[in-house]
Amino acid sequence: HITVAYQPQVELKTGRVVGAEALARWQHPDIGNVPPNEFIRIAERSDQILWLSHSILDLVVEQLVAWRDTPFADISLSYNLSAHSVDPSIVTKLRDLIATYPWLPDRLKIELTESADIMSHTNELERLEDISDLGYCLSIDDFGTGYASFEAIWHLPIQEVKIDRMYVSGKAKDSTSFLRAVSRFASEQKLTSLAEGIETKQDLERIIAEGVELGQGYYYAPALDATTFEAWVNDKRGHLA
Ligand code: C2E
Ligand code: MG
Ligand code: MG
Repeated sequence: HITVAYQPQVELKTGRVVGAEALARWQHPDIGNVPPNEFIRIAERSDQILWLSHSILDLVVEQLVAWRDTPFADISLSYNLSAHSVDPSIVTKLRDLIATYPWLPDRLKIELTESADIMSHTNELERLEDISDLGYCLSIDDFGTGYASFEAIWHLPIQEVKIDRMYVSGKAKDSTSFLRAVSRFASEQKLTSLAEGIETKQDLERIIAEGVELGQGYYYAPALDATTFEAWVNDKRGHLA
């Protein structure tokens, strides 16, 4: 019953769609929709996270392969992976996939969730280094919350900083100076900055003014099934053309 939905990621200044975040969805036949925050946390407390991570990765790669030689071939997908669940078998799969799909590292981004205390986990750190050495781009998710800190950036081979939505709405204390500091830091370190949770035109204008490059949020679109996502991209491109 697990599927993947795609939330568009946009280059803020131009409105160009550059990618999408793959978000897990579970429609249970009896209890209905179960939010990923619930079922992923539960799976992480047991061995189930391993097959779940593999299944979702398979679905994401399948989608990228389906988009080859189509107008969507330039879309990248971000795959969420908990920094605590970086199993050696995931690294092996990412390595083996390159033999079949040499272009994959240019299209598949790994979004690291829960990276706050990764510094004390030597094995996981080494595996993330391996993933980065394979050529995949790593992004640090929920930046600015207790789940991700500057310390993680120093220790991880990161190429993108994903600013948590609490700073995007402007409701959090000192959120504007935080946005400004992070986007400046990112640009000086040659990292991409991406803001999540853009809900309104005002959010968007604030984010652009502070120099953030990429974004996603309900202002653009929620996470969509693949067919709806494709239609959304076509429509967006039609408006930009
Ligand atoms: P996340 O990676 O930070 O994903 C962003 C969450 O914010 C998503 O919730 C998305 O639907 C939601 N969102 C997007 N735009 C807006 C907006 O404008 N306003 C608001 N209020 N929310 C917005 P979702 O899909 O419920 O996922 C929640 C979390 O579950 C994710 O947070 C991620 O940590 C985790 N998750 C989802 N899929 C996976 C997965 O495949 N693997 C792993 N390890 N974790 C996943
Ligand atoms: Mg994410
Ligand atoms: Mg996030």
